[in-house]
Amino acid sequence: PASTLDELVALCKRRGFIFQGSEIYGGLQGTYDYGPLGVELKNNLKQAWWRRNVYERDDMEGLDASVLTHRLVLHYSGHEATFADPMADNRLTQKRYRLDHLLKEQPEGVLRRLYRTMEAEEGDLHALVQAMMRAPERAGGAMTAAGVLDPASGEPGDWTPPRYFNMMFKTYVGPVEEEAALAYLRPETAQGIFVNFKNVLDSTSRKLPFGIAQIGKAFRNEITPRNFIFRVREFEQMEIEYFVRPGEDEGWHRYWVEERLRWWQEMGLSRENLVPYQQPPEELAHYAKATVDLLYRFPHGLEELEGIANRTDFDLGSHTKDQEELGISARVLKNAHSTARLAYRDPDTGKWFVPYVIEPSAGVDRGVLALLAEAFTREELPSGEERIVLKLKPQLAPIKAAVIPLARNRPEITGYAKALKARLQALGLGRILYEDTGNIGKAYRRHDEVGTPFAITVDYDTIGQSKDGTTRLKDTVTVRDRDTMEQIRLHVDELEGFLRERLSW
Ligand code: ATP
Repeated sequence: PASTLDELVALCKRRGFIFQGSEIYGGLQGTYDYGPLGVELKNNLKQAWWRRNVYERDDMEGLDASVLTHRLVLHYSGHEATFADPMADNRLTQKRYRLDHLLKEQPEGVLRRLYRTMEAEEGDLHALVQAMMRAPERAGGAMTAAGVLDPASGEPGDWTPPRYFNMMFKTYVGPVEEEAALAYLRPETAQGIFVNFKNVLDSTSRKLPFGIAQIGKAFRNEITPRNFIFRVREFEQMEIEYFVRPGEDEGWHRYWVEERLRWWQEMGLSRENLVPYQQPPEELAHYAKATVDLLYRFPHGLEELEGIANRTDFDLGSHTKDQEELGISARVLKNAHSTARLAYRDPDTGKWFVPYVIEPSAGVDRGVLALLAEAFTREELPSGEERIVLKLKPQLAPIKAAVIPLARNRPEITGYAKALKARLQALGLGRILYEDTGNIGKAYRRHDEVGTPFAITVDYDTIGQSKDGTTRLKDTVTVRDRDTMEQIRLHVDELEGFLRERLSW
């Protein structure tokens, strides 16, 4: 696996996986663009998720809701009031930090002094942040007095009282920039699922339990985007809202934690690098009954890849009309605007109730980063040379096979290779590349680095011009395996079966 983010960033730029957003104008912080190979890898990951969670199940429907979101959706969801991170500014450097990130980077002595002044339990960073937000004026002074260091300069700072910063991006719909036209870019895909609950239920006649799955962009004005594509301002999520009867929620929550853990392993992440973390009660969001984060050992540390929350009836309960008639257990804002009853009528008893929901919510970009980190391999060859190989699962590799003509100036060979590429492409197994850049050694090295599992070479034997004057190798090609570097010779008619076996899910 990769030992630093830097070596991944370098590979991604060099080979065309991921570039800084708006790079030629100095970059737009917290945005990244997926290049020719990145877009393939990301699409493959999303497709694998969709296949597993929608196509292979009999209790799931898909959805693609809009990014632009009515203000009331994010009002009643609670985001307008609470989707905020605490931040503090250093008056000396004019730099701004998310409070918990800032504290995490402080030397122990500094932190100990803060715990003491803020009277928070030693070692509990979460409690410290909360104590500071309860008394921001005192916290600002305490940070300065304790010598909290500015991570950028390494020098002590002069800290402002911390305050909350709402992370939602606002925009205006229509020609007039006025309050009434305010809308949000969604900060998560989930709300689009909740507000469509009745639409999906009515149009599909689903019975509980069932889920709705969605993949799409989300936007958060992160205070400190960092660690490459780990924390960005525009990203993608793969989210499921799985609706169940109250009372069956805990069992389903356990089920989804196991299922998601299993799936990430099938994508190639190793079990040792995946750590399920049960959030302690004091860390839980106000609406969650239980949350298990799947942490991954990224090169920059052990951090959240996916969160799986039991959100009870909070979400549907927040967005439904007739709240008082439905016996909602979560504490929700009184909804004066909703026009839909987001509830379920028990087919046996005829009674209405609001389903509970289990939410497995994964970051696509964090998934891509984890796959890249896990697959990145440096190997020393017998010759003493080093090679970098991206040992991605073949099904996820951006390019499934490269078809390489051994001689670029021989039309019989290039023509044969092009026709073979077209024939293999038609199998529908993903991208097959006709590769005629550079010499064969360079092509192999490049395809090792981008994770292409098979390199197929068309040579003189293939076109029936063997050195020994025979045509016994006509219509055979060499197939080189990325991981073992071994080459075998196959008849072109065998390629279909060979590739299908290795590239199908
Ligand atoms: P964090 O604590 O790291 O800020 P979060 O707990 O706020 O994340 P959720 O709201 O649970 O994240 O979002 C679900 C998933 O969306 C996360 O597990 C992560 O994979 C992804 N995600 C959230 N914020 C970002 C971001 N800024 N950049 C990339 N992915 C993100």
